[in-house]
Amino acid sequence: MEIPENGPGIEPVKFTTNSKFTFNCHKGVACFTKCCRGINIILTPYDIVRLKNCLGLSSGEFLAIYTVPRILEKTDLPVVTLKLMDDELTSCPFVRDDGCLVYKDRPTTCRYYPLGVASLSHKENIEEEGFYFFVNEPHCLGFEEDTEWTVAKWRKDQGVDIHDEINSGWTDLIVRKRSFPANVKLTEKTKKMFFTTCYDIDQFRTFVFESSFLSLYQTDDETINEIKQDEVALLEFGFRWLKWILYKIGDFKINQEAAGRRQKQEK
Ligand code: SF4
Ligand code: SF4
Repeated sequence: MEIPENGPGIEPVKFTTNSKFTFNCHKGVACFTKCCRGINIILTPYDIVRLKNCLGLSSGEFLAIYTVPRILEKTDLPVVTLKLMDDELTSCPFVRDDGCLVYKDRPTTCRYYPLGVASLSHKENIEEEGFYFFVNEPHCLGFEEDTEWTVAKWRKDQGVDIHDEINSGWTDLIVRKRSFPANVKLTEKTKKMFFTTCYDIDQFRTFVFESSFLSLYQTDDETINEIKQDEVALLEFGFRWLKWILYKIGDFKINQEAAGRRQKQEK
């Protein structure tokens, strides 16, 4: 299930949502679970929310146990990848002989497979939205099966459309940063803020509700109630806030009085 760093595993053929392919994956294939070893999976923010809830962990615990932080070279933005086992095959920690332990909450990349999606691969040459390609791994025998799909049908069947919708604010942050000149670097503080907001939802919640955040940013009661009760709403609120912080796009308004008080305290 790897999205290779360079060309060999990728056929850079552009698929759109109407493109057709023939494929099937089930427990009867001789290669069952082979794609869950030696993998490189970038986790999306919504992947982390689902996985940590599935495992009954806080986001901080999940990140510490199951992920490796990385910096995307072109954008200088933090991402996290799934930490592989230290076994001979560098297996995914969730793979078992009879399949995926977290199947109902499996990451976006696993859902897309055997397709790769440009917006998730973070490659310079394939960053266009709606660009799909085959992750062509020789061990995958699913292409010998005869079930016909379109990309759109596959996305719906795998439940990946909802993942993409929720993650769209995060994808947008990364795509925008790509268009900045390479020498525009983020401060460590900004990178940390991006990391917490996108990947460590429990810490972000603490930041929003237990710091001066809500007195500094004018936030209506409806939004406050929503983000208090709904983790996905909090995540999407975080994406909007980062968009405002990084690109000054959006409708966040500073409470000038609170900002003044804060400035005084900092002096
Ligand atoms: S999360 Fe599940 S589907 Fe994805 S690589 Fe791991 S075992 Fe395979
Ligand atoms: S058919 Fe492909 S996707 Fe399915 S288990 Fe085999 S390698 Fe993995």
